[in-house]
Amino acid sequence: MDRLGIVVPCYNEEEVFPISAPVLRGVLDDLVAKGKISADSFVLFVNDGSKDNTWDLIEKEHEKYPTQIFGVKLAGNVGHQYALTAGLITAKDFCDVTVSIDADLQDDVKVIEEMIDKFHDGCDIVYGVRSERKTDTFFKRTTAQAFYKLMAGMGVKTVYNHADYRLMSRRAVEQFSQYGETNLFIRGIVPLLGYKTDCVYYQRLERAAGESKYPLSKMLALAFNGISSFSIKPISMILGAGVVMLFIALAVAIYSIVQYFLGHVEPGWTSLMLSIWFIGGMQLISIGLVGQYIGKVYIEVKHRPRYNIEKVLSDETKEN
Ligand code: UDP
Ligand code: MG
Repeated sequence: MDRLGIVVPCYNEEEVFPISAPVLRGVLDDLVAKGKISADSFVLFVNDGSKDNTWDLIEKEHEKYPTQIFGVKLAGNVGHQYALTAGLITAKDFCDVTVSIDADLQDDVKVIEEMIDKFHDGCDIVYGVRSERKTDTFFKRTTAQAFYKLMAGMGVKTVYNHADYRLMSRRAVEQFSQYGETNLFIRGIVPLLGYKTDCVYYQRLERAAGESKYPLSKMLALAFNGISSFSIKPISMILGAGVVMLFIALAVAIYSIVQYFLGHVEPGWTSLMLSIWFIGGMQLISIGLVGQYIGKVYIEVKHRPRYNIEKVLSDETKEN
């Protein structure tokens, strides 16, 4: 039977913790009763340097339910993405399969069962996807959707309307942990892992208690980080702009020379016009070219794994 670890990053979640912990324990009990996970499955709360009582609550809950409630205390606030990574990498040593979910339970816990079913069908990664966003404010909904579109436009593979609610098998987390990059955007990395994947759909709920820990500034930072960590397209856009400018320079050249011969111009105008466009274009192209190399260096220093071997067939067949 597979041991499940539910990983929950928490930052100043003292209001919602007393609601979430029993709900998540209930999920475990239910799945254990149905024979879908082993009885030693657990919920791992990661305290991301909370300034309130969150850690005390986690400790007390662990004392009450030492086999079901686990905790990781980070020494300071590192942000959701790192807190989640710390939790997943810690959990993978104790379990066969992980599910990550936010502490506020906005993501419907009912679909965890479906995720586990898909895991048993051979999926290593199952994405929780929001089918509707009725309860989100208009602002959150539109900004979030703009974000997914922008990411796609920049060539970053992400799953539309999927945040960080997902199931990952131990070997998927293992491979994920090989991505040693500091600018971490988990949603961009997971689709690179490969393996059999699937989605489950749910309606996003209201926050059970407390306030959002993701203000607009953090959302923008996440979006920028996502794009700049996965795409060097902006650099190519500079190069493209340079080429466009050179073409304009050509058109301006023809126009200015024609004007010059027609005698419609002040002295100096033609050479000035030509220089502005030509030098501008050349400069952009040069910056873009240098940028291409910087982009390559950037990709190299990430030292991402180049492939992920799932299976080897030989006289000693083994599975990773
Ligand atoms: N979170 C975290 N560190 C932070 C900010 C948030 O671990 O610095 C956690 C938070 O406790 C929650 C999850 O990340 O479990 C998502 O945050 P929230 O629900 O506030 O974001 P929203 O759903 O509003 O986008
Ligand atoms: Mg939330």
